[in-house]
Amino acid sequence: MTAPRRDPSAPGDRAAPARALDVLIVGAGFGGLYALYKLRAMGLEALALEAAGSVGGTWWANRYPGARVDIQSLEYSYSFSEELQQDWQWTERYAAQPELLRYANHVADRFDLRRDIRLDTRVAAAHFDEAARCWRVASAGGGRWTARFLVLATGPLSSPNLPAFEGAGGGTEGGIERFAGQVLHSAAWPEQPLELRGRDVAVIGTGSSGVQLIPILAEQARSLTVFQRTAAYVVPAHNGPLDPAWEARIKADYAGFRARNRKAYSGFGCELTPRPTSALDATAEERAAAFEERWRIGGLGLLSTFRDLLTNPRANELAAEFVRGKIRQIVHDPATAARLCPSHPIGCKRLGVGTGYYEAYNRPSVALIDVHAEPIAAITPGGLLAGGREHRFDTLVLATGFDAFTGPVTRIDLRGRGGLRIQDKWRGGPLNYLGLAVAGFPNLFQIAGPGSTSAFTNFFVTVEHHADWIADCVAWLDARGHATIEASAEAEAAWVAFVNATAENTVYLGCRSWYVGANVPGKPRVFMPLAGGFPAYARRCADVADSGYEGFVLDTQAGAAD
Ligand SMILES: Cc1cc2nc3c(=O)[nH]c(=O)nc-3n(C[C@H](O)[C@H](O)[C@H](O)COP(=O)(O)OP(=O)(O)OC[C@H]3O[C@@H](n4cnc5c(N)ncnc54)[C@H](O)[C@@H]3O)c2cc1C
Repeated sequence: MTAPRRDPSAPGDRAAPARALDVLIVGAGFGGLYALYKLRAMGLEALALEAAGSVGGTWWANRYPGARVDIQSLEYSYSFSEELQQDWQWTERYAAQPELLRYANHVADRFDLRRDIRLDTRVAAAHFDEAARCWRVASAGGGRWTARFLVLATGPLSSPNLPAFEGAGGGTEGGIERFAGQVLHSAAWPEQPLELRGRDVAVIGTGSSGVQLIPILAEQARSLTVFQRTAAYVVPAHNGPLDPAWEARIKADYAGFRARNRKAYSGFGCELTPRPTSALDATAEERAAAFEERWRIGGLGLLSTFRDLLTNPRANELAAEFVRGKIRQIVHDPATAARLCPSHPIGCKRLGVGTGYYEAYNRPSVALIDVHAEPIAAITPGGLLAGGREHRFDTLVLATGFDAFTGPVTRIDLRGRGGLRIQDKWRGGPLNYLGLAVAGFPNLFQIAGPGSTSAFTNFFVTVEHHADWIADCVAWLDARGHATIEASAEAEAAWVAFVNATAENTVYLGCRSWYVGANVPGKPRVFMPLAGGFPAYARRCADVADSGYEGFVLDTQAGAAD
């Protein structure tokens, strides 16, 4: 009789030695790096496992030309170390991917984090052992660990979304694998520089990544065909070298600047607060002047020109029409301009921040195909069929985004009490409490996940807040001898209802975005992030902690006081 084959990722297999930890962190992006720094500084034995071959997360994976942050770098950066924020010098107003990656590596070195990070180590399974009250974790390569706490810093946008194209015969006939040329995904760009000059390139997708990529591909490629499902609102970045006078002013009181940003709705933009009035109360001239001023400044601040642009559909339409007016001015061909004008509310999908995006369509080598008018029927060896004609190209770029929030988590064989699988628990959409903890999954925390204001903030503010909250919670539990903490089912249900109710008063439900899972076929349509602003969210999290973790069920170690 042959012995049963061992599953290398089964975490319950005690035959293999498992390293015992206080905290195991999954992911070494900016969230995982800071969680490791913070938890280790408390004297805990912590380890971060990272699937990629580098730290940096988003800024390692998204190496496409033009990738850069759309929140100013003096804001999109860590605040936890005064020395770090004083020493580090950004070269541009909005740092590009290589500089962000250098920053992540600098942080890993500066704080000696690498000794507790394992790269090229994908967590395949994590099972909660109820008897031992710990997590048993296994990597795809057969590594094993046990940890009292598990922190998912797996990222909101780390699971690339691949479109499925079905040919006339159904199945995968006519799928991407039929294409004979090179296929690239914006979130899995080759590490080596790629020569696109002289190539005929097609891009599918005009979300934030497409918006950054397209102008550069337009410059380089012999021809560029853009396949657009939803037109994008794009404001100019007006990127350039970082203004030394501004940098000096911020660095003279960096802590004060960070504190003011933490009081801002989105955790950034404290120097560009919204007018306290409704866009509807301004005269047409006042409105035009206000929008024009924000357009000149550049960046996401256009959405905070007036206080009600994201909550009042009529006010929102005024801002939307302002941008459409800009598109008509910039794009020479009226038919192309019309295709580029979005019809959904502005801001209900992430607003693009670009450099020369609409201008790219003035090049004779660039063509725009609206896939609603000309649906993609199939991929062919030489290109694709859309609207009854074949478009030929040798390089296909997929800027098709991510299976946001839930994708990175449900790829793990994650099981809580009673073997409850996260895929079953989240079948109808993500359920959690405060965006931090999941009922049925004791001692599990998530950073920058669904149910928190993550996607509507400067993510640095979120990841620092989450890691600090988790660290305080672990310290509190340890000081009182509690072995486990777990969101109660009631608190979780109330929180999910709150997240949904908060979205009702916004424009976010007005389009098919990754906020609601609409970019991934078959994904439940559930509003995943929390609207309502970072300050209110942070207050709520603090109140829960101050109350002795209201809404959580606490378990006690044998022999410890309750
Ligand atoms: C192109 C792009 C532009 C962006 N621009 C902005 C911006 O301008 N402003 C902003 O605030 N945010 C922006 N974001 C969001 C960005 O994701 C966050 O700012 C931030 O980088 C998230 O950090 P993180 O550590 O939470 O996640 P990530 O950086 O995604 O890191 C998660 C890490 O977890 C790893 N991982 C996942 N699953 C496993 C597993 N099973 N085992 C081991 N490792 C695993 C991944 O490999 C990844 O390295 C952008 C995102 C993208 C994709």
